Amino acid sequence: MRVFVIIPAAGIGTRMAAGVHSAAPKQFLSVGGVPVLVRSVKAFLDVASVDAVCVAVRGTERERVEAQMQEFNLGPRVHMVEGGSNRQESVGNALTALECDDDDVVLVHDAVRPLIDSATIERTIEAVAKHGAAIVGLPALDTIKQVERTADGAIITSTIPRERVVLAQTPQGANFGLLQRAFAEAEADGFEGTDEASLLERAGVEVTVVPGSPRNFKITQPGDIELAEFYLNQTEGAR
Ligand code: C5P
Repeated sequence: MRVFVIIPAAGIGTRMAAGVHSAAPKQFLSVGGVPVLVRSVKAFLDVASVDAVCVAVRGTERERVEAQMQEFNLGPRVHMVEGGSNRQESVGNALTALECDDDDVVLVHDAVRPLIDSATIERTIEAVAKHGAAIVGLPALDTIKQVERTADGAIITSTIPRERVVLAQTPQGANFGLLQRAFAEAEADGFEGTDEASLLERAGVEVTVVPGSPRNFKITQPGDIELAEFYLNQTEGAR
């Protein structure tokens, strides 16, 4: 069994561009002197069982990413494919490029979650190897309301017991054979999901949840770079 990682990094970062940061997509911004994407890739390279990391990038960003990979010495385990027009397409392009056996483990991780830790990656790999499919999920601390959107905002329709809810993070993964089938079925049905689990669920695959952490958040909006640096300083301070 080999372990492959796909990192979709072809987003254009429209939410971030509206804020105080430069219009560069958020995966290329720097956190503590290291670009977000480089941190995400390095987190997986630090796990010895990872055989290769495939990053999906826009054609126009390829040179910038290659330069960053060289500057930070990421080495021969990192490969690049062309991104697509949405996250699912970017991951699909990487899946097509991978030369895997059905029982190899494939993990997908958002480029914009640079603070993922080795222990969680290892637990996700073990969970996929044992159960076939797994994601990292954060237990909900707030009470969760189901709502109907209205012109003024929203009206609550029910309360979802929070012990029945997790917030989906990444990595998310499955055996290559299962993931490939889930993607093929979604494409045939014209289904677009925002994560891999939603494709696996609709393909009838049982997906296990590995506990996540608030540190593994998605850099999305202005202020998130500072939050990531705060978490990093906390870790360094604890050493
Ligand atoms: O936009 P969203 O927050 O869902 O992005 C999650 C991840 O998917 C990001 O790492 C982003 O770069 C990536 N993505 C992609 N191709 C797209 C859109 C998003 O690889 N067309």
